[in-house]
Parts: sequence; structure tokens; C-alpha cells
Amino acid sequence: MSGRRVTIAIDGPAGAGKSTVARLVAERLGYLYIDTGAMYRALTLKALERGEDLNDGEALSALAAQTDIRLAGEGPLGQARVLLDGRDVSAEIRSPAVNGAVSLVAQVPGVREALVSMQRRLAEGGGVVMDGRDIGTVVLPHAEFKFFLTAALAERARRRAKDLAAQGHDEALPAIEEEVARRDRLDSERAVSPLRQAEDAEVIDTTSMTVDEVVGHILGRVRGLT
Ligand code: C5P
Repeated sequence: MSGRRVTIAIDGPAGAGKSTVARLVAERLGYLYIDTGAMYRALTLKALERGEDLNDGEALSALAAQTDIRLAGEGPLGQARVLLDGRDVSAEIRSPAVNGAVSLVAQVPGVREALVSMQRRLAEGGGVVMDGRDIGTVVLPHAEFKFFLTAALAERARRRAKDLAAQGHDEALPAIEEEVARRDRLDSERAVSPLRQAEDAEVIDTTSMTVDEVVGHILGRVRGLT
């Protein structure tokens, strides 16, 4: 492998394994991992704490413009450590309350503008693995590698349940499946930057693949061409 440090975009619906895979790919390549979902989650937490009206796009856009969100290495359970205005909110942003509200906040155009410009700045210079919903289509349309991870809904719900349980949130599987399906719907149907596969992305159905297999597949592609 040469020294060229490329940009890798990983998109897909909730629970498809994006964050786990993206983090490991970044680790193996010595790249920076950027979890854009964590950024939308952090802003959502702030909006909930302040009691903002989640249907007030103007208020949410103003909030985004005044908010400092940083990703700082590894937090609990190997997820990104997230600092919201300097406060570590890595655990709080994974709560059911944030899960339930984040897609409403993420659909506001002013919110997306603010966070997308932060994301592009973070990716300047390459050597980055970024995961989200609109990375290959909107945030980094010129990424050298684009992957779209999917998995059957039942499997994605099962993975979410496992993550939530590891964080001390026990929820019944049918409720989680409903929540994941609702988030898919909101994320796919919103007007601005909906969840969509980039035309030049490679689709990987992870339903019956292990994390190692998905990571190996992506590394194979990247190492073969850099
Ligand atoms: O990836 P994760 O499940 O943590 O993302 C949480 C939510 O943030 C998504 O359901 C979506 O509403 C929003 N999101 C987004 N665009 C991204 C990443 C996440 O709209 N690039």
C-alpha cells in the first residue's frame, strides 16, 4: 500500500453496522474516524435539555450555529467520545430519548448546513473514514471509496437491542424494531439530504456477515487501489 491517504464514505440505515465497521477500518488504516450520527445526536441532546420545540426549525438552526461539537478519540464501548460544548456526552447521546428525537432535528436544513460544514472541515486532507446517511451523496461526493451498508430490518433491530442493553437500556425487541423502522422512514423521506445510496457506492448486505468479514472486504478494496 502506498502512502496515499484517501477518504472513505460509509452510509446506510440505522443498525446496519456502519459505526462498528467504520471505526475498525479507520483503526486498521491509521485513519481518523468521524461518526456524523454522533454529531446529530449531540445537538439533539442539547435541544432536549433546553426544552426546544423540535418542530421549530429556526430555533434548531440557531442552536446548531451556537454549538461546539467535537469528536475526541474513543469513548465507552469503543464508540466515539463526543464533547458537546466541552462536556462529555458520549453515553447520553445513545439514550432512547435521543433515538426518538434525532431524526426530527436532523431533517432541519439549517441544522444540516451547520453540521455538514463541520464534517467537511474535519475531512480536509484525507485519511478519514466518515459514516452517516448522506456522506457519499452530499458531504463528501468526491470520496475515493463509498460503501452503502444494509441489513434486514429484524437483524438491525437485534443489533440495536444488543447495543442498548450494553448501555443499560433494556427495551423490548418489537419496540426497537418499530423505532428503527420509523427512523428509516424519516431519514429516507426527508426533503434535505435523505438517506440514499450514492450511484457510485458499493452496496454490502451485512445481514449474514460478521463484522470482521465486512471490515476485511472494505480493507481489501481500499488496499487494492491505494
Ligand atoms: O448513525 P446514527 O444512528 O447514530 O444516526 C442518528 C441519526 O442522525 C439518524 O437516524 C439520522 O436521523 C441522523 N443522521 C443524519 N445524517 C447523517 C448521520 C446521521 O441525518 N450523516
